[in-house]
Amino acid sequence: MGSTGAGFGFEVRARLGAGAGRTGVIVTPHGRIATPAFVPVGTAAAVKGATPEQMAALGAQALLANAYHLYLRPGADVVEQAGGLGAFMNWAGPTFTDSGGFQVLSLGAGFKKVLAMDTAGLADDQVIAKRSERLAAVDEDGVTFRSHLDGSRHRFTPEVSMGVQHRLGADIIFAFDECTTLMNTRSYQERSVARTQAWAERCLAEHARLTESRAGLPYQALFGVVQGAQFEDLRRGAARGLVRLAAGGREFDGYGIGGALVKENLAAIVGWVCAELPWAKPRHLLGISEVDDLFAAVAAGADTFDCVAPSRLARHGGVYSADGRYNVTRARFARDFGPLDADCDCQTCAGYSRAYVHHLLRSRELLGYTLATIHNERFTVRLVDSMRAAIESGGAAGFDRLRDRFLSRYFGP
Ligand SMILES: [Zn+2]
Repeated sequence: MGSTGAGFGFEVRARLGAGAGRTGVIVTPHGRIATPAFVPVGTAAAVKGATPEQMAALGAQALLANAYHLYLRPGADVVEQAGGLGAFMNWAGPTFTDSGGFQVLSLGAGFKKVLAMDTAGLADDQVIAKRSERLAAVDEDGVTFRSHLDGSRHRFTPEVSMGVQHRLGADIIFAFDECTTLMNTRSYQERSVARTQAWAERCLAEHARLTESRAGLPYQALFGVVQGAQFEDLRRGAARGLVRLAAGGREFDGYGIGGALVKENLAAIVGWVCAELPWAKPRHLLGISEVDDLFAAVAAGADTFDCVAPSRLARHGGVYSADGRYNVTRARFARDFGPLDADCDCQTCAGYSRAYVHHLLRSRELLGYTLATIHNERFTVRLVDSMRAAIESGGAAGFDRLRDRFLSRYFGP
């Protein structure tokens, strides 16, 4: 086991052919994660609409919460006093927090992370809101931003993010990074990658200091985040830079792959980055859950994934099925008494009909959000679990068979 800190480690179990994909096990102080694995998101220490018991029952191995949201409300000190994120939310398993960089900056720049966005002709820093109109401003030292809750001013630096994430106490935490958009110019992306590298070094040093000063608490693993948008040289350079870093006698326990991605480039970007990262450490792809993206990213070497999409879609009636995604609030499902997905093994599909979920969501009954969320989270968790099983039992041929069969049915002829 390639252990990097007491209670944390990662072990590769099976390789996907001769490529970068693999299965493995991440060991944390709160349990193991068999990879590849989908990690559902509970932004404010709750998966919207579902209890931790329901998340455990549907096979979630870990949950990811957001440092920015918890910092603003209820405050990292409240979560710390509760005994950390897992204890606060009554989740016994492994937890992740992201650094807050994406939220702070996306609120500031007024952009959303959208895959496959049409960026033709948009490579221009001016497309993004003028500095005075933004909620956040980036400088070399950190980011000053206004709360989306009450407009109050705050400042995140690498040291502040580490302090917040240490108080939240998740098993896996992320270095504070600058998340750019595809609309930023190449020269801006270059400056941003350099800034994220400098921030990564400061995060590592502060993490080492906090780890020493908080002896006796469960070890928290720190992942560095690789940015660089769609540029191969920037992505590879960013990954190499993070691998070289060691501050306070520590190096990163794993790596995150973040930032602007065009769907068509996803496999290439994950491939470039994973080629530069050490084989013996885990790699987390931030914010991905579309089925074809998950297959592409697993094949390219990513081990874990998180995304709000399964629960967010569910609340709007979007439902995954083996035959593709549909919206259960549409009129044609009003008298459809079959399950959301005949192939699904979740609690919702075991007992509830499309007609009932249709009725609940149209009536804005809270149970509708719960039932649809349980289904979508189970669908996504199970899909990635099936990739892991296919690699371990059938190798590259088994994985390819699963992918071809699944995607041809999901997207249709
Ligand atoms: Zn289901």
